[in-house]
Amino acid sequence: MTPRKPGRHFFANPGPTNIPDSVLAAMSRNSIDFMEADFLAVFDEARAGLQRLLFTGGEVFFYASTGHGAWEATMVNLFSPGDTVLMIGGGFFSEQWAALSRKFGILVEMFDVDWRVGADMAVLGERLAADTGHRLKAVCAVHNETSTSVALPLPDIRAALDAANHPALFLADTISSLGCFEFRMDEWGIDAVVGGSQKGLMLPAGLAFTAAGPKALAAHKVSNQPRFYFDWTAMLERRFRGFTGTVPITPFFGMAEALRLIEQEGIENVWARHHRLGDAVRAAVKAWGQTNHGPELYCRNPARYSDSVTTILLPEGVTSDALRKLLLDRYNVSTGGGLGPLMGKIFRIGHMGDLNEAMILGTLATVELAMGEAGIPHAKGGVVAAMESLAESEGRN
Ligand code: PLP
Repeated sequence: MTPRKPGRHFFANPGPTNIPDSVLAAMSRNSIDFMEADFLAVFDEARAGLQRLLFTGGEVFFYASTGHGAWEATMVNLFSPGDTVLMIGGGFFSEQWAALSRKFGILVEMFDVDWRVGADMAVLGERLAADTGHRLKAVCAVHNETSTSVALPLPDIRAALDAANHPALFLADTISSLGCFEFRMDEWGIDAVVGGSQKGLMLPAGLAFTAAGPKALAAHKVSNQPRFYFDWTAMLERRFRGFTGTVPITPFFGMAEALRLIEQEGIENVWARHHRLGDAVRAAVKAWGQTNHGPELYCRNPARYSDSVTTILLPEGVTSDALRKLLLDRYNVSTGGGLGPLMGKIFRIGHMGDLNEAMILGTLATVELAMGEAGIPHAKGGVVAAMESLAESEGRN
């Protein structure tokens, strides 16, 4: 065991994220029978709260899993081997989703894009319009690519589908966007949504879900993929709409409380807070980059900046792992690392979930300090720039 580090652990990870005290307290309880009225009330409250957060009247299927389980459940319930889907690329997570789907015999066409920019909607529109035989059964989009911090404009994807008069299902992964920035399932015409507990929902990892609208439920009826634990048909017959075995009781107490906190703050205020904090982090990175070979925002497209995570590219030849290790070992600050081809080249500051200005400024100041110690070229003044950004954004709420 390493000795305890004094003071707070600054958790600026892009998921899992900080868990509010009242959510921890709600989960600090003994188990009860999951068919008891006390539990049923909490389950119903959590499910209804999640539907409000998703802005949907659709079904919600829960799984005792992380996001990967929800991806798998969604794909096996909606498609049959041999079906073709279009995966909008752009980062590690879209590639994972594609790789997982292929394992089930689903043919994935990748819509390859520049990871630093994100998908071009006009080109996507052309691709959909060219599919006159409607071979594509679905378009899959990762709303917020957590590896690159590039966010996709989901309403524009809906518009591209509509303009092409394309009947494909529209699937969105909201694992690192839900509860962080704007998302509206029904209004944006999204048929199935994949989500997880450990990011904007401020819960431990281990509870994931799919929200499914009428078109997705109809597609489910004709999918012949083998499935058992994840089978939506079986789930629909159950009181719980989601558990083939024992219901994980404790996380639902946490979820009901987390959703209560979000509603108490007001969802639009939650989005505004994430935007404010995201802007502050981006201001700091831009200031650090005002020198030769300084750090830079990985996302090159300001219209696609993510309000839940910022991926920071370090100069050629500098490894981000050393910086992250210094931050953690010496300063008790946890940041995210690079995934896939970005391993060692970038680091990520998560600004999602239960976070405020003081926590972000503390993290940024420590990153600036550690970059100096690690000999990473950067201009000073990142924290001042973040403070200015926060000061300017006052009154947005
Ligand atoms: N999708 C996105 C956008 C993610 O950020 C993640 C994890 O960080 C996943 C999917 C995979 O989820 P999990 O790690 O919970 O299995």
